[in-house]
Amino acid sequence: MNPITGNVSIDAQNIMPIIKKWLYSDKDIFIREVVSNACDAITKLRMADFAAAGGCSVRVEVDKAAKELRFIDDGVGMTEEEVMKNINQVAFSGAKSFLEEYAKEGDAENSGIIGHFGLGFYSVFMVADKVSIDTLSFREGAQSVRWESEDGMSFTMSEGSRTTRGTTITLHICEAEEEFLDLWRVREVLERYCSFMAVPIYLDEIKDEEAVVTGEGEEQEEEKEKPLLTPINDTKPLYTKAPSECTDEEYKEFYRKTFHEFEDPLFWIHLNVDYPFKLKGILYFPRLKEQFGGIEGQIKLYSGQVFVADNIKEVIPEFLMLLKGVIDCADFPLNVSRSFLQNDGYVRRISTHITKKVADKLTGMFKTERETYEGFWPDIHPFIKYGAMRDEKFAERMKGCLLLRTTEGKFLTIEEYKERNGEKTPGKVIYTSDAARQDAAIRLFTERGIDVAVLDQAIDVNFTSYMEYSGGENAVKFCRVDAELDSLTGGEDGEALDGEKLTALVREAAGSDTLEVQVKPLVNDSIPLMLIEDEQTRRFNDMGRIYGRSEFTMPAKYSVVLNSRSATVRKLAARDKDERSVLLARQLYDLAQLSRQPLEAEQMTEFIRRSMEIVELAAQL
Ligand code: ADP
Repeated sequence: MNPITGNVSIDAQNIMPIIKKWLYSDKDIFIREVVSNACDAITKLRMADFAAAGGCSVRVEVDKAAKELRFIDDGVGMTEEEVMKNINQVAFSGAKSFLEEYAKEGDAENSGIIGHFGLGFYSVFMVADKVSIDTLSFREGAQSVRWESEDGMSFTMSEGSRTTRGTTITLHICEAEEEFLDLWRVREVLERYCSFMAVPIYLDEIKDEEAVVTGEGEEQEEEKEKPLLTPINDTKPLYTKAPSECTDEEYKEFYRKTFHEFEDPLFWIHLNVDYPFKLKGILYFPRLKEQFGGIEGQIKLYSGQVFVADNIKEVIPEFLMLLKGVIDCADFPLNVSRSFLQNDGYVRRISTHITKKVADKLTGMFKTERETYEGFWPDIHPFIKYGAMRDEKFAERMKGCLLLRTTEGKFLTIEEYKERNGEKTPGKVIYTSDAARQDAAIRLFTERGIDVAVLDQAIDVNFTSYMEYSGGENAVKFCRVDAELDSLTGGEDGEALDGEKLTALVREAAGSDTLEVQVKPLVNDSIPLMLIEDEQTRRFNDMGRIYGRSEFTMPAKYSVVLNSRSATVRKLAARDKDERSVLLARQLYDLAQLSRQPLEAEQMTEFIRRSMEIVELAAQL
């Protein structure tokens, strides 16, 4: 052919500098773009000539000495006309939407969308100062073509050197991007973007020329030195298979490999939809690592086995990001702009469908395998609670399957809790946020046969409030064991006690003139004095702490309950206030505090000193 020179397109003049500038932060994607083009070329060949495509592969060569990165495929290749059309008259669809978005946002770099743009073949100019395409079409009688460009704007075309069908893309890596001549760096990018591509991909390092052994008889040794390459990708990832063909062990193995996990997942959901959209994938429920540790999931989104991005929140409902999984939407474009994600009905339908499938799996398990579901509950409840708070439809579906784990290890739905305890604590769920520390208070309820729910995760602070305001008429109130009095009072009051006198005594002991003091008969006569903390104030403060806004906390609101059925209290009421009654009241007050939380250093010293005094008094009797 006659050599041709020309300019790529008018658009390119404007776009290339922007590609270079703005895509700087995510230049890795050029590898995805070039490798997926190579895979496409092989897939096209498969469709045109199935027999010829057997054994086809993509080879990535890192040649440090020549400062070159080469992508070699034996796919369909391109004729001269095809190079003109596909490479020179680029549509720049990705770049166009990028420009539009950039103009709208004004600050593309900070908007977090850059990574979602693929600019096709031209992204190679982010890292290369010279690019060549050597290609020979599979069409009969085709001539090989060589295309070369240094800046992506002007090019030369001439006769190529490829003698076998396919395409070789050679990038001369510019000085600033030499990291892409590092085998491990390239491998890392290939593993991220290409590990499920449908054509085998091999990565090879080309050693210095000196290292190449020549001469007779030594060739075999060289062969031996170079181990057979294994593809870096899994061309048939598990999620592409029919669920009925997958074994539990395969699901676990896929989980461990894909997410570099050592532990097995709890269970999984295999998504396999053909209509009204194509969606395949596996969502895994991971085990909770530590009690209060944040749960960090990862949902990898693929399009036709090409990695698009992690955790795209428009596609995957936010609460599902606590899971780990892969989702492949075949019709999803590789180059996604934010406006596409936000306005597209297709994206919304995917998201709704995934949510529904997750809820179906959970409610199904609750109905048919309640015991298994209960076994998973300690691991999955933060996820379900978070989901219910975030997504109304999910909440509606999961309504009957929310469980309360009691201090005695039972799992009850809200309805079951109401049935068992409704008579003693109507409309209330009694809970503890720390079963060890609140043990004394818990016993007051369990001794009366009242179930105490354990709500001790960070999410429970929000969840209790959510349940109260979202439950409508049937909503229950959540009361912590040290905030609830109604279900502990009752029985004979006996002879009325002098409330004023007792109030004055306790106020003096506590060192507060405003402390609220009530005298009431408690069901358990062994407790003389109890501290009740206001539930709403405490919750407000808990939230403040969770969100790191402790400057907004309010002073804790306590009130004291004196048990009119306690012999000690009755004695104190009958006695005129003196040194000894103040001493006893102080001791009772500290004991009540101590059953809730450790005393401050000074208070503790005083408590021990006073205890010694009481011991001495007792010894004198
Ligand atoms: P896209 O892949 O989105 O169409 P690209 O800029 O990446 O855009 O590629 C433009 C076109 O060039 C491709 O659609 C394809 O027709 C052609 N092409 C690119 N790489 C190859 C290749 N390795 N083999 C054959 N054709 C290729």
